[in-house]
Amino acid sequence: MRAHEAGALHADGYRGPTWLHQPQDVNALHSILWASSVGRSTDGVLAVGGVSVTDLAQQFGTPAYVVDEADFRGRAAEFVRTYSEIFDGLCGGADVYYAGKAFLCTEIARWIRDDGLFLDVCSGGELAVAIRAGMPGARIGMHGNNKSLAELEAAVDYGVGRIIVDSFEEIDRLAAIAARLGRSAPVLVRVTVGVEAHTHEFIATAHEDQKFGFSLATGDAAEAVRRILAHAPHLRLLGLHSHIGSQIFDTSGYEVSARRILRLHAQVAREHGIELPELDLGGGFGIAYTSEHDPLPPKSLAAEMAEIVDRECRANGVAVPRISIEPGRAIAGPSTFTLYEVGTVKQVRLDGGANRRYVSVDGGMSDNVRTALYDADFSATLAGRASSAAPVLTRVVGKHCESGDIVVKDEFLPADIVAGDLIAVPGTGAYCRALSSQYNHTPRPPVVAVRDGQARVIVRRETVDDLLALDV
Ligand SMILES: *Cc1c(COP(=O)(O)O)cnc(C)c1O
Repeated sequence: MRAHEAGALHADGYRGPTWLHQPQDVNALHSILWASSVGRSTDGVLAVGGVSVTDLAQQFGTPAYVVDEADFRGRAAEFVRTYSEIFDGLCGGADVYYAGKAFLCTEIARWIRDDGLFLDVCSGGELAVAIRAGMPGARIGMHGNNKSLAELEAAVDYGVGRIIVDSFEEIDRLAAIAARLGRSAPVLVRVTVGVEAHTHEFIATAHEDQKFGFSLATGDAAEAVRRILAHAPHLRLLGLHSHIGSQIFDTSGYEVSARRILRLHAQVAREHGIELPELDLGGGFGIAYTSEHDPLPPKSLAAEMAEIVDRECRANGVAVPRISIEPGRAIAGPSTFTLYEVGTVKQVRLDGGANRRYVSVDGGMSDNVRTALYDADFSATLAGRASSAAPVLTRVVGKHCESGDIVVKDEFLPADIVAGDLIAVPGTGAYCRALSSQYNHTPRPPVVAVRDGQARVIVRRETVDDLLALDV
C-alpha cells in the first residue's frame, strides 16, 4: 500500500503523500509534467501552442483533451532519431513502433506514418484506424493474446509486417490463413521472460503468472519457434519479442530480460542454424505524472539499452539483430492535458477532525479511469487565471455516481477556487481517452490538437445522439 493511503493524518490536518510539497508559488508549473509549449501568459492564463485555455474552453467546451501536436510529434521524432543513431553501429539502427493502445485515432496514426515511426496495433479496430490513415502494412505490428480469425485474416490480407504470435493455437490458425490466402505471414514470438517491471522495481522469477506469451522457463517459447519453422513457408519467423511492464524508470529490468531472451535467440541459432534477423524489447518507458517521477530521457535510455544488447550478444556469440522498441505512454502521455471546469467546492471533515477540500469537475472516471483503476497519481493546476491565494491541499473529483471517481488524489490548488474556474490535469495523453467510457451515459470529450496558434478537433465530442445510436 502506498504511504499516503495509510492516511498521513496529523492533528493539524492531512498533509498528502510524502513526495507532495506545498508550493512556494501555487501558479508555478513543474515543466516536466507539461507539453513543451504549455505556459502561463502574462495575464496568468494557461496557454498551449499559442492558444489560451479560456479560448479553448469557449470554442470547444469542457471537458476536453488538449494535445500539443508539436510536443507529441517531437517526442516521437526524438525516439526515432536517438534510437537510429545510437543503434546504428550495432545493427544499422532501431525501429520505433508507437504502441497505439496508448492513444490512437486517424490523425495520430497519420502523424506516426508521416514522422517515420512504425505502429503497433492490438485489435481489428486499431488496425482499421491504421488502414484508414494509410499506414503501410509493412510498418504495422499486430499484438494480442486472443486475436480472432477475422483479425488475423485482416492482418495477413493487409500485409501487416509482423504478427506477434502469442499461443500455440494461434500458430496453427495463422498458418492455415496464410496458406489459404497464398501468403507468407511474418511473425515474432512473444516470449515471457519472467521479468515484471514497474517504476523503479522489477521482479525476476523463473515463471510469470500472466496471460501473455510463451514461457521461456517451461520451454514453450523454444517449442513455439520449432512449430513456426515447421509451418514454413506459410509462416516466416522474424524474431523474438518481450515486453516487461509499464511506467518503468530504469533499465535494470530490460537488462535481465535482454539477457534471457538473447539466450533463447542464440539457442535458436545453434538448434536451427538461423540467426533471427529481429528482436523486439517492448515498451514501458515511464513519464512524470507528479514531481515524484524522474524519467530517463530517450537518449540515456537508448544508450543504456544499446550497451546491454551489445554486451549480451557478444556473450552469446551472436550478431546484434535489428532492434525494435514499442513506446506508447512516453510519446503520447506528456503531450496532452485534460481541461475541466469546476462545478462545486466542498469542505469535508475527515476522521480525526481534519478537513479535505473536494473540487468537483465536469468529467471524471469516464475520461480518466487511471486513478480509480491503477491508484495512479496525477497533478493539476488552476488554468483559467493565476491566483494569489494560499495553496490548499485538494482532491479533484469527477461527476460520476461512484465515490472512487477521483481524478487527482492530492494536489495543492489555490484557496479561492470557485465554480466556473478551469482546471488542467497534465499527462493525460496515454491510457485516458483510450480507456474512456460512457459511464453514466456521459458523452466522451473531444480531442483538440493545438499547434502554432491554431486549434482543431481531431476527435469530436460525443453527443446524446451518439449515446442513443446503438439502442435498438
Ligand atoms: C502496452 C504495450 C506497449 C506500450 O507500453 P507503454 O507503457 O505505453 O510504453 C508496448 N508493447 C506491448 C506489447 C504492450 O502491450
